[in-house]
Amino acid sequence: MQNKLTYEQVLEWYNRPLLDLVYEAATVHRAHHDPREVQISTLLSIKTGGCPEDCGYCPQAARYHTGVENEGMLSQKQVEIAAKRAKLMGSSRLCMGAAWRNVKDDADFDHVLDLVKTVNNLDMEVCCTLGMVTENQAKKLSDAGLYAYNHNLDSSEEYYEKVISTRGYQDRLDTIDNVRKAGITVCSGGIIGMGESPEDRCKMLVTLANLTPQPESVPINALVASEGTPLENQKPISIFEMVRMVAVTRLAMPKTTVRLSAGRTEMSIEGQALCFMAGAASIFAGDKLLTTPNPDIYEDLDMFDILGLKPTKPFTKHDKPQPEKTADYDLKEKPRWTRPGHVIAENEAKRKTKTTV
Ligand code: SF4
Repeated sequence: MQNKLTYEQVLEWYNRPLLDLVYEAATVHRAHHDPREVQISTLLSIKTGGCPEDCGYCPQAARYHTGVENEGMLSQKQVEIAAKRAKLMGSSRLCMGAAWRNVKDDADFDHVLDLVKTVNNLDMEVCCTLGMVTENQAKKLSDAGLYAYNHNLDSSEEYYEKVISTRGYQDRLDTIDNVRKAGITVCSGGIIGMGESPEDRCKMLVTLANLTPQPESVPINALVASEGTPLENQKPISIFEMVRMVAVTRLAMPKTTVRLSAGRTEMSIEGQALCFMAGAASIFAGDKLLTTPNPDIYEDLDMFDILGLKPTKPFTKHDKPQPEKTADYDLKEKPRWTRPGHVIAENEAKRKTKTTV
């Protein structure tokens, strides 16, 4: 039985002197992980732009004027080529992202199921991030061989509604629950640097840490302020805030894979080294993370050489999913995702800019 983690405990960790915190997090990290191994994951956008949601940080939201065009889905061949290339460069996980509010039971979803099978056949860990999913849909993904599903909480429940108005926090938690019930591993984390307080960061970690079981994977993103989004003027966070966040995540969820995600272009090798010391065990590779810039893979491989790191092999922490031949789905299932309907002034202002141009 997992002990409940308290907000007070997480805040106490968060406020420790940085080097004490890193030392303790490194000790916990070494007790549960091989500190020389860092997983390289590749994030591939299989359906870019045109999203109906209003996430204040996202250049793929159709309502903002960001220059990201609405593109059709990648073909099976395109995904297979991208996956083979990623594997060749050391990636053991491919995460496919579609800019959707939620999955619909249509031909596009059937195509995604085929993509999952294609990548699973390459012996890579397959992850998807497709928005909200029902229990049936999660089961279909599981039966196709999906290893992980990403669905970030982004921030605390209180701060979430200052950034996104088109869906509620409980929808996030329900999707995570549906994924869990389908036997898929959970990847869920957040973004720092959106204007949230340290207390918001700690509250998000408490929510994640008190999921039963804890997520297998927690990405920590630094906001990449994209032009045209409501958060375009946010100042970059300091590397020390990132290190602190990684270290507290490590203490809160000792066995979880903590992932250094968006924002690495702003981090030096020294800064990233501190993050690895504090418990980060994965990076995202490739020149783009969906639509935001990311370091070149050759620079990352040089960094691995300098720091004495090696890429983690696939399925070292959990078994490879075995796709099922027959499945039993509840066809009566009716998804009920919410639209909280509150208004976020910054998001509305950006929408107006677009319609008056
Ligand atoms: S973060 Fe995802 S759900 Fe939100 S606007 Fe971007 S693509 Fe859509």
